[in-house]
Amino acid sequence: VPTIFSRIARHEIPAVIVAEDDAAVAFMDIAPASRGHVLVIAREEYPDIGSIPPATWLRVMALTQRVAQAIQRGLAPDGINIVQNNGAAAGQTVFHLHVHVIPRWADDGALALWRPGAMMPEQLDAVARQIRAALGDD
Ligand code: AMP
Repeated sequence: VPTIFSRIARHEIPAVIVAEDDAAVAFMDIAPASRGHVLVIAREEYPDIGSIPPATWLRVMALTQRVAQAIQRGLAPDGINIVQNNGAAAGQTVFHLHVHVIPRWADDGALALWRPGAMMPEQLDAVARQIRAALGDD
């Protein structure tokens, strides 16, 4: 079954679209965190960052940047968050890759990001080793 976002990309169900090209579609989030919250999706159905081909991801990012710049010009927010959730544990609810573009105004309380944690330098080294090994760069 196609995701709800695939159906939006095909114009099968209504959405308030702000921009689209052959690779990506940008439309208003139906439950916006702030005024101007836009979602940018890949037109094709990939669940997450791990499954989208790099070239397609770059196209999604290109439209994301265009939309963020338009939000800056058009709505003049004090800041913009770019958020992209992968996996239920990360808060993903629609399993079709999408990027949130969320304009922010000072003290709007629109978004809770992370609480700063604490790690010893040797713990940072250990986790970096795991990531480097997975990258295959060392
Ligand atoms: P996430 O938690 O990252 O998976 O975000 C899913 C987002 O999609 C939420 O912010 C929802 O408000 C939004 N959303 C879900 N269904 C629709 C829809 N039909 N049109 C627009 N936005 C939607």
